[in-house]
Amino acid sequence: MDVVHSFSDLRRIRSSLSSPIGLVPTMGFLHEGHLSLVDLARDQNSSVITTIYVNPTQFGPHEDLEAYPRDIPRDLNLLEERGVDLVWIPNNEDMYPPGFQTWVTVDDVTKPLEGNMRPGHFRGVTTIVAKLFIALQPDKAYFGQKDAQQVVVLRRMVKDLNFPIEIVVAPIIREPDGLAMSSRNVYLNTSERQAATVLSKALKTAEEAFADGNHDADQLRGLVSRIITSESLADLQYVSCADMETLDELTGEISSGLLSLAVYFGKTRLIDNILLGV
Ligand code: AMP
Repeated sequence: MDVVHSFSDLRRIRSSLSSPIGLVPTMGFLHEGHLSLVDLARDQNSSVITTIYVNPTQFGPHEDLEAYPRDIPRDLNLLEERGVDLVWIPNNEDMYPPGFQTWVTVDDVTKPLEGNMRPGHFRGVTTIVAKLFIALQPDKAYFGQKDAQQVVVLRRMVKDLNFPIEIVVAPIIREPDGLAMSSRNVYLNTSERQAATVLSKALKTAEEAFADGNHDADQLRGLVSRIITSESLADLQYVSCADMETLDELTGEISSGLLSLAVYFGKTRLIDNILLGV
């Protein structure tokens, strides 16, 4: 496994990789959610590239950029075990050279949900992912359903900018008690960690209600929100039941939808979602 930092080293090694090439972009502090993407990429490609980069432009001014957990030596061991060919750990100076002022923005689908709560977040995401795509030119790129809106936004970007790259989406990997794996779970103290199981419980209850014939978007949102607010340590930011492609909020009877939420436990903000009717 090669590990490179600079653009010049990257270009040299990238040109020696055999196609098809699968790319797994990450911010590091890897867990089985990330590694499931790596495994999928390994199965479907001749070469696998993983990037580790805590992208500063996708963090808001009061978010956890400085505190974001990092452990590059551990990440590299895990990636080597999973058969990755190349790890790129870009430098900030390469990604954002002095005077940087060129952005990739996607309009409508970045406005609700995470985009509404985290202004500027998706501009950071689309810009860095576009830069990774241009630098690495993968055949396929792998993203987790955990960040459901990110998938919608990146699919839109790939279509609109004609990137010849297939976006592959992998299911959410969860802890045995249902909590969606996230690098941010390490911020939770013991009681918050216990309380955080309410996210998947609430979504699962709504999924069962949907399967039992309750297809009313407002009732499903209400059900999730009641369960979350019954947990005293949970501070609900939003529950949404939205169209899976436009992310427009749905009301009344639905045949499918993206049920998603964001909840604070202390200072830690967690997101989770399920797809209904797919
Ligand atoms: P991050 O390092 O948080 O930027 O995540 C890198 C990639 O891993 C993104 O495509 C995430 O959606 C994906 N990912 C994060 N957590 C999970 C999870 N629990 N299951 C599946 N994919 C995940």
